[in-house]
Amino acid sequence: MGVTGNTKYIFVTGGVASSLGKGIISASLAKLLQARGYSVTIQKLDPYINIDPGTLNPYEHGECYVTEDGAETDLDLGHYERFLNITTSQSNNVTTGRIYQEVIDKERKGKYLGETVQVIPHITDQIKHSIKILGETKKYDFVLTEIGGTVGDIESLPYIEAIRQLKYEMGKDCLVIHLTLVPYLSAAKELKTKPTQHSVKIMLEYGVQPDILVCRTEKPLNQSIKDKIALFCNIDNSSVIESRDTDSIYKVPLMMRDEKLDIVVLKKTNMDLSKVPDLDKWKDFIYRLENPKSTVNIALVGKYVELVDSYKSIIESLIHAGAANNCKVNLKLIQSERITCENIAEELNNISGVIIAPGFGDRGIEGKISAVRYARENKIPFLGICLGMQCAVIEFARNVLKLQNAHSTEMHTNPEHPVIDIMEAQKKVTMKGGTMRLGAYPCSIKKDSKAYSIYKQNKISERHRHRFEFNNEYLSDFEANGMYATGLNPESNLVEIVEIKDHPWYIGVQFHPEYKSTVASPHPLFVSFIKATIKK
Ligand code: GLN
Repeated sequence: MGVTGNTKYIFVTGGVASSLGKGIISASLAKLLQARGYSVTIQKLDPYINIDPGTLNPYEHGECYVTEDGAETDLDLGHYERFLNITTSQSNNVTTGRIYQEVIDKERKGKYLGETVQVIPHITDQIKHSIKILGETKKYDFVLTEIGGTVGDIESLPYIEAIRQLKYEMGKDCLVIHLTLVPYLSAAKELKTKPTQHSVKIMLEYGVQPDILVCRTEKPLNQSIKDKIALFCNIDNSSVIESRDTDSIYKVPLMMRDEKLDIVVLKKTNMDLSKVPDLDKWKDFIYRLENPKSTVNIALVGKYVELVDSYKSIIESLIHAGAANNCKVNLKLIQSERITCENIAEELNNISGVIIAPGFGDRGIEGKISAVRYARENKIPFLGICLGMQCAVIEFARNVLKLQNAHSTEMHTNPEHPVIDIMEAQKKVTMKGGTMRLGAYPCSIKKDSKAYSIYKQNKISERHRHRFEFNNEYLSDFEANGMYATGLNPESNLVEIVEIKDHPWYIGVQFHPEYKSTVASPHPLFVSFIKATIKK
């Protein structure tokens, strides 16, 4: 479609401050290009030394997003998938740790033939390789690469240098979008452009002239401010794009369309811009978000509730499912350590649905188990995800099967009834990074189940991230008492879904449905769950 037919590489860097929404701007631009019929993918390069975020505490880095191929990745990949309705993979998230690991592995194999291995050219070459490989394996029209962190950070330097080299090598096939902050000083009643000027100056020191500036701001940027930024930063004034604060990330593609970000990109890369973007479905989704016909209160019980980023994909899945049901979802995040048998009724007062979040370790576990019990006994729609499903199993064992001290061997070294136990394949694993049961696995659903009525098929595939499983030695006891395994892995018989039939909506899943919900394709489990909560 392009004049040259080459893949175009677009880099998104950030300046002034972190958390300006580089991931959302990248996903929004990709959405606009995709809506014009272009094939697009996005990757994130993270300058930290961890090989991947799998070993990172959610307090440090938010949720760990798992791809189909089992990569543990940055949560921005979740935004890419949710906006674009595409799947990403390990190649879409690369860290400095991984870059160095690959270079060092090559050095040990003698691949550098006696050369001194250095940041330039060896690390920068490896970075360039990780970027170009995306465009080479499948011929995309656009590869967008978001660089984590903020320019000026010591650890970002090799990435900016790699961009400088690529820009030099590729000319018009390469574009740099720099995202900055234009703060409003209420005392002076003025928007300030100086931080943006300084940020661009740092880029210039490294030899990179940004082509487009996206300026995050709480107030409108008038033309004179845009002109001033353009003049001081050597940028066309049509390429100074305003990015106003908004109440929903899903409005950003439409805001970027109004600001003509896609048109500027297409012009600068010499691409055809005659096709009008087809955003009807996206607009319909926004309309449903803004015009709900009902409201439900949902409780999400977890241990990381202080930071919503820890449960990003679940929260977004609920937004998708709410829109699909024309319903506004009010989320109450409940810290599970706070919950006791005594205060649970009060905590869940006015709540129409309970979700128990995934997690690791025993902190707050008894609170989660109390919440499951309350939802089960009071027939409140219930969804347990991964650890949440395991809590449901433990609760049922203790309170229905009367198995005193039933527990998971993750929480207790030698429980009397290990109803959740470590998977056989995990017993010998000692390394922590990337060693869980990860990524997409098939699941067979039994025909007479709620899960079947929701998925409308008996062969599904969902993504996993866990080491422990339902202990099948107890299965007949559970089924005899009303909790059924309605989804099983066809090869290993691992229990993937449990249900209670004598309950309006009670499902526990060992997998993570939240990783597969997108705007275009809201996840059926969440859609059905919200529907049940509206009925309640
Ligand atoms: N900690 C549990 C396990 O490893 C659950 C993991 C999760 O919720 N993702 O099995």
